Amino acid sequence: MVTGESVWRAIVLYGANSATYKFAFGATLLEIAATGRNHVTLEELAPRYAELLCQALQRQPRQGTAGRSKFLDACRAFNAGELDVDALGRRTVQLGFNNVIDAFPQLSGGQAPVRYYEDQRKNSVAPGLTLRDELLELAESVHAQDLGAETVARWRLVETAWATGISDAVLAPPLVYDPDTQHLVLQTKQRRKSVTGVVAALSGYQDGRCAYCNQVMARDTRTGPIVEHVLPWKLLTRPWNGPDVDAIWNLVLSCKPCNDAKRDRAPHEPWMPWLEQRNNDLIESRHPLREVLMAQIGETAAVRHATLKLAYQRATELLPAVWAPPTSQGNGVEL
Ligand SMILES: [Zn+2]
Repeated sequence: MVTGESVWRAIVLYGANSATYKFAFGATLLEIAATGRNHVTLEELAPRYAELLCQALQRQPRQGTAGRSKFLDACRAFNAGELDVDALGRRTVQLGFNNVIDAFPQLSGGQAPVRYYEDQRKNSVAPGLTLRDELLELAESVHAQDLGAETVARWRLVETAWATGISDAVLAPPLVYDPDTQHLVLQTKQRRKSVTGVVAALSGYQDGRCAYCNQVMARDTRTGPIVEHVLPWKLLTRPWNGPDVDAIWNLVLSCKPCNDAKRDRAPHEPWMPWLEQRNNDLIESRHPLREVLMAQIGETAAVRHATLKLAYQRATELLPAVWAPPTSQGNGVEL
């Protein structure tokens, strides 16, 4: 089922990434559309769009695969205090939208089946973008906040992949978006190919069993293993200052019933040693993910224990509701 929401996710999560503009652009569009406006000029889009990219550059200097971008140079100059906010706005209008307005609606080389705006840049009476109902409805939907969080998460993954030289398929599993269930699911065929990928790693480690209920997971793509954020993804929409939750240390494979039941909650604390043990085991077994995991949560088991404990504490302060996994199948370490 093609919906405004499923196509938006497909664009943000699976569109090509040669630069991170589209994340900033998508986030800015959603924010403006949430105010109910149906027309926006580039001058109005520019401040927020540039702000998001300036923040990203401070987080991670590499925000594109092209050698040079005059627009990103302007953002860097702003960060360095060499350009004031008005000048940045003008440079953004001039340089920042050249590709992204055309590129955003593209999916795998074709036009996405849903249009979110009409390009009216050449309209002499009201230049800018006309925001279509599809975008306004999306911005007002109950899932708008999730979409914001997914955008942030994807953005961080892409920039981390560029910064580390590790492909994003290794940092995060190769996922297929299933528009019917609106879940990201693993494709079994891809999993076999991607031997160094996270999915393969986790799947092998978990022996095809759900991390929470220990049941054998279904294998069809609709209900099959779902990549699960232990500490919820939603934290990225909060003032979260713990380790990046959209990273391998925090990802497990879950069956659909557990994923559905857990929703935006952390598991209850007694489950957490499973995750700590899993990360320690992958590191100690000299798994290819060893270095990545150590970089994410610590060099030694003691540091990792403290990192995890603190992350859990902060996460449950921000999002206090926790979920108790089914206990009958055992949730302890059984490795
Ligand atoms: Zn389960």
